[in-house]
Amino acid sequence: MEKICKMLKRNNKGFTLVELMVVLLIIGILVAIAIPIYNRTQDNAKQKTCIANLRTIDGAIAQYAAENNTTVAEFGNANSGKKITEIDGLGDYLKDIGDLKCPAGTDEKEGTYSIDSSGKAVCDCNGDTDDKPHKYPLPVKVPGGGTEEES
Ligand SMILES: [Zn+2]
Repeated sequence: MEKICKMLKRNNKGFTLVELMVVLLIIGILVAIAIPIYNRTQDNAKQKTCIANLRTIDGAIAQYAAENNTTVAEFGNANSGKKITEIDGLGDYLKDIGDLKCPAGTDEKEGTYSIDSSGKAVCDCNGDTDDKPHKYPLPVKVPGGGTEEES
C-alpha cells in the first residue's frame, strides 16, 4: 500500500523532459511521413482534374469542327498557339470557358489552356513535373480502328 501511494505521488509530478522529447519525436516522424503523402495526393488530384479539362476541351473542339465543316487538324492549323478564350465561337461549345483553368496554375503559369498545331488542348503547366504530366497519351480511337490522326 505504501508502495502504491509512493507511485501515485511520483506520477503527480507530470512528464519528464525525456518523455516529452520522445512524444515530440514521434509526432515529428508522423508529420514527416504524412506531408509527402498529402502532397502526392494533391498532385494526383490536380493532374486528374487537368486531364478531365483537356478531354472536355478536345470534345468541344471536335464538336466545333463537325458543326463548322472543318476538321480538328484544320482547326489546329488555324488556331495553333492561341488560348482557348481567344478562339471565336469555341465558347459556344464550352460552358464557362473563362473559368476553365488547370488547378496546378501558379503566378508564373496561370494554368490556361491553348491549342497545339494538331488541334489538341494543351495545359501551360505541362512539363513542370515529369511524373505527373498534364496530358493524356492515349490516341483517340475512331470506329473501324486507327486513330484520329490517320483519318
Ligand atoms: Zn494542367
